[in-house]
Amino acid sequence: MQPYYGIDLSKVTYAEGINTGHGRALAYCDRIFFTKPGNLWLDKSELHLTLHEIEHLVQCQQRGRRTFLVEYILKAGMDAMKSRQVDVHDMIDMERAAEAKAARLTNIVWDKIQKMRHMAPVAVPMRCMQGEVFMPTAGGACCTPNYSQCRNLTTGHVTCRQAGCQ
Ligand SMILES: [Zn+2]
Repeated sequence: MQPYYGIDLSKVTYAEGINTGHGRALAYCDRIFFTKPGNLWLDKSELHLTLHEIEHLVQCQQRGRRTFLVEYILKAGMDAMKSRQVDVHDMIDMERAAEAKAARLTNIVWDKIQKMRHMAPVAVPMRCMQGEVFMPTAGGACCTPNYSQCRNLTTGHVTCRQAGCQ
């Protein structure tokens, strides 16, 4: 996701299962607090939420931590009027911007994740077909019961020990 954001995401940390006081995820400059564990690689709504919160991190770093407390205060359900520094319109703008960015990016990033999943090397189960015998060679191999012909499970290379088994 790094190319889509103007801040260094490698410094961002997050925590799961956090009671944020209002049941919603919360971002504060370099930290995201999720209320429950999720997997953004498998769950598109979780990805959307994460992208939304990341945009809050960007806003927070751009506007300064103090200004950003505004969102925390409002989300936490505190009486916004208690704090005269709270600019409600500013908060709504940040919320809108975060949602717009997440909406724009979710499908793009999701597609990339799906492509990565296709490219990821598939773990070959160390299992042989019926009638074959497993041989614990490098990469694993499946052989005929008399070991005359073996097929390497990783490379697919077939070796013959007897003439005529090709
Ligand atoms: Zn938000």
